[in-house]
Amino acid sequence: MNLRTTIPAVPMDAALAYAALGIKVFRVRRNKAPYANCPRCDKQSSIYVPHRPEDCRCEVLTCHGFWAATTDPALIRRWWTEEPDANIGAPCQLNGWAVLDIDPRNGGSASLAALEQRVGPLPGTTMQITGGDGLHILYLTPGFDLPGTPFPGIDFKHNGYILLAPSVHASGNRYQWLGTRNEFHKPTTAWPDMLLPRKQRTAIPAPRPRVRRSPFPAMATQGRPGGGKMWTVEDLVQHVMDGREGNRNNTFFFAACRAHELAAQNLISLGEAEAALMHAAAAAGLTNSEARNSFDSAATRPSDRAWAA
Ligand SMILES: [Zn+2]
Ligand SMILES: [Zn+2]
Repeated sequence: MNLRTTIPAVPMDAALAYAALGIKVFRVRRNKAPYANCPRCDKQSSIYVPHRPEDCRCEVLTCHGFWAATTDPALIRRWWTEEPDANIGAPCQLNGWAVLDIDPRNGGSASLAALEQRVGPLPGTTMQITGGDGLHILYLTPGFDLPGTPFPGIDFKHNGYILLAPSVHASGNRYQWLGTRNEFHKPTTAWPDMLLPRKQRTAIPAPRPRVRRSPFPAMATQGRPGGGKMWTVEDLVQHVMDGREGNRNNTFFFAACRAHELAAQNLISLGEAEAALMHAAAAAGLTNSEARNSFDSAATRPSDRAWAA
């Protein structure tokens, strides 16, 4: 899985190396101006035949930008013989990738640091330094659309494409794989669960609630290191189960707030706490939508808003 290939410095050789690894590539002009479609694929043309790029049947093989990406060495040789300096594009989704694109000029580094503080370090995977001093972090696609720009300076690239080393950035610098010898290996790490929209996160089975009754005082300064007793997920579940009838919503909201606080400090897993609390809420008689709304609004309390702003 970790076999690495050193990527040649000559664009055509590099494109052939990627193709040999099974990566679909296409050529991109250095100024990113698209190559013209053939008349049947060109919306401005009088003989244009309406069709979706993925359904294209034309035999020109270069129409529709990244939809033309290929692993065919003959086509790759033809493209880069015509234009030896063309950059190498790789469509993300068609290659099974989803990419975090960190742009430091737009605050991406600070956003990444804040993100990792909040959800924990991102799993290690294939990374590329862009010619603009940015960073591409490549994961396997989660298989559905992601929000394009979730944080300042961070794009989730999924439907689009990225340039691959040794492409040249507008700044004149080359893209380069992170490592010592410009080596590349295909990403094998799944898109991190913590970056998924909440409703699409993998549900983690809830721990079985304890039988014992625990007399936790309500609104103490709990859940903070050094600030009294530490809440665990199990404690939060028990708190919800212990909630008095008529006060279930407040009890659940309190537990949900503690869960978000603890998760923000990396003391518990938010996904695990969420799954456990949703189970507990059902057992305590809350409807699923009541619990869902309450859990979500606990996430947007003032202590969390600094991040969203
Ligand atoms: Zn065409
Ligand atoms: Zn077409």
